[in-house]
Amino acid sequence: MSHAETTRVQTVIGDPVSAGAPLARAKLEDIFADIQSDLRFDHELNGCLNCGICTATCPAAHYYDFSPREIVQLLWTENLEGIYDAMQEKIWACAQCYTCAARCPFGNSPGGLIMLMRETAIKHQMESAKNVLRPFSRVMLKLISTGNQLSPDMINKDHFADWGPNVSKVDAPLKLLRKAIPMPTLNTTATAWEVNLKTSVELYTIWEMTGVLKQLEGIDENLFDVITDIMDEKREDWKDFLAEQEEAKND
Ligand code: SF4
Ligand code: SF4
Repeated sequence: MSHAETTRVQTVIGDPVSAGAPLARAKLEDIFADIQSDLRFDHELNGCLNCGICTATCPAAHYYDFSPREIVQLLWTENLEGIYDAMQEKIWACAQCYTCAARCPFGNSPGGLIMLMRETAIKHQMESAKNVLRPFSRVMLKLISTGNQLSPDMINKDHFADWGPNVSKVDAPLKLLRKAIPMPTLNTTATAWEVNLKTSVELYTIWEMTGVLKQLEGIDENLFDVITDIMDEKREDWKDFLAEQEEAKND
């Protein structure tokens, strides 16, 4: 009997997070091909001694059921089911501190490989990616619409309930304090600093051309629609501004 006849290959695998239909093996191969085809993959995976130094120095491994050694081994041995399984939960425990990359005797970057797996999870619209990113929708909206991640007016108990009683200590007159800053772009509490219209429009183009917005559409369609409306409005404002400048020149 040949080796192929004695080896059982699972043709489908269930998704432990989503209630959707089990996945075809071809889908697992697609997911791994996406991870492997990224230019960073060969740079960040050079082999693995299974020594565990990465896990011993990993802060996330101290607190979660998570091991960068295990993730690297899954990729190195091309364990498709294991890779898919890790993408359901474990990869989201990484703090992206890259201590592992500094210590690995093989020059691997487990944190970098995990980043590739996360990007692939988003690209494939996995439930785990949607669940992890959902609480960040407010920050994503702020970042994409204003160019700033956080703003002073977000520092309140409604926005940071997990700060507990410490948030009440932030009772400074922020509006007044911000107005006292000599740089005009910082005289606001609605954004960390004011990003001018031209820069905002340029940022939209970058997010569009690099595929960031397409990925966002795949994981949160409502947020994508809100952001698209804001972008359209600002692009119209920018066109009007340019038209006004042109008119003023011709007067
Ligand atoms: S430190 Fe490097 S070689 Fe050792 S287990 Fe981690 S990834 Fe593999
Ligand atoms: S980058 Fe991730 S896997 Fe590496 S040490 Fe930091 S938390 Fe651990």
